[in-house]
Amino acid sequence: MDDSSKKELYGLIGYPVKHSFSSFMHNAAFEHYGMNAEYVLFEIEPNGLEEFFTKTIHEKKIKGFNVTIPYKEASVAYLTGQISPLVRANGAVNTIRVEADGALSGFNTDGIGFLKDLKEKHVTIPGKKICLIGAGGAAKAVASVVASLEPDEIRIFDIDQKKAQNLVRILKNFYFKLNISAVTYMDEFIIDGPGILVNATPVGMKEDDPLLFKEEWLRPDIFVYDLIYNPQETKLLKTAKAKGCRCANGLGMLLYQGCLAFEHWTGKSAPVDLMRKALQERIYV
Ligand code: NAP
Repeated sequence: MDDSSKKELYGLIGYPVKHSFSSFMHNAAFEHYGMNAEYVLFEIEPNGLEEFFTKTIHEKKIKGFNVTIPYKEASVAYLTGQISPLVRANGAVNTIRVEADGALSGFNTDGIGFLKDLKEKHVTIPGKKICLIGAGGAAKAVASVVASLEPDEIRIFDIDQKKAQNLVRILKNFYFKLNISAVTYMDEFIIDGPGILVNATPVGMKEDDPLLFKEEWLRPDIFVYDLIYNPQETKLLKTAKAKGCRCANGLGMLLYQGCLAFEHWTGKSAPVDLMRKALQERIYV
C-alpha cells in the first residue's frame, strides 16, 4: 500500500463550500504533527446528503468532518454516537467524529469558539447587556453559550421577527430566569451600560451594505463583535472603532471552532498560533 492510501481524511460538508478557508488551518495543524492526513472540501448538492452519510463516509474512510450551511440541522439526524449537550440544545452540529466502530459523534464548537475568542480578548459576559443582530444558525450558537454565563440581558433583533422570537423561546426553555427578549425595532437596541453588540447577519460583507446599528448608539463601553471576518473590517467595525469601541471580527471564532474540532478528531492540542497564521495568510492576502 502506498502512503496516500493510508492518508487519514477529514473535511467539510456544505453547499457551497468552495469559499471555505478551513482546509488551510487544518492542513497546517496536520503538518505540524507530521500526520499523514488531509482536510478536503466536500460540496454536497441538496439531494446528496443521505448518500454522503450512508456511503461516502465509510467508502472514503473519513475520520471526521465539519458541517456548514445548509446541513448543520439536517446532519443531526445521522448522529449515532455521542451527542454533545450543545448539539441537543441548538439542534445543529458543526463537528462530527467517526468513531472506531463507525458511530458518528456530534459536537457544536461554534459558540464555544466565539467564547474562547472573547476570553482571549479579555471580554467577560456576566452582568453585561448583549445585543445580538440576527437569529440564524450562528446567532443561535452564540446565544446558547452566552445565555449560560449570566448576562444581565440578551436582546435579539432579526429582520424576520418570528426567527428572533423562536430563538428567545428556545433559550427560555433552558434558562427560564434569563432576561431575554426579541426586539421589534432597532431603537430597543440602545445599550445603557457596559455591553456587547454582536452582528450575526451577513450584512456587512458587501461594501455598500447598510450600517445596522446607529452610529450615535455606539459608546466606548460597548464591545463590538462582527462574526464576519472577510472583509477584515466591516463598516460596523470601522464605525465602532472610530467611536472608541473595542472590536473584533469573526476570525477568532472561525479559528477556535476549528481548533476545538481538531481536538475532537485527533485528541491532540491544536497548534493555535500556527492555525491562526494559516488562516490570516490566506484570507488577508
Ligand atoms: P443565517 O442562518 O442565514 O442567519 C442570518 C440571519 O440574519 C437570518 O435570520 C437573516 O434573516 C438575518 N438578517 C439578514 N439581514 C438582516 C438585517 N438587515 N437585519 C437583521 N437580520 C438580518 O446565517 P448564519 O450562518 O447565522 O451566518 C451569519 C453570519 O455569520 C454570516 O456572515 C456568516 O459568514 C457569519 N459566520 C461566521 C462564523 C465565524 O466563525 N466567524 C461562523 C458562522 C457564521 P433572513 O433569513 O430573513 O434573511
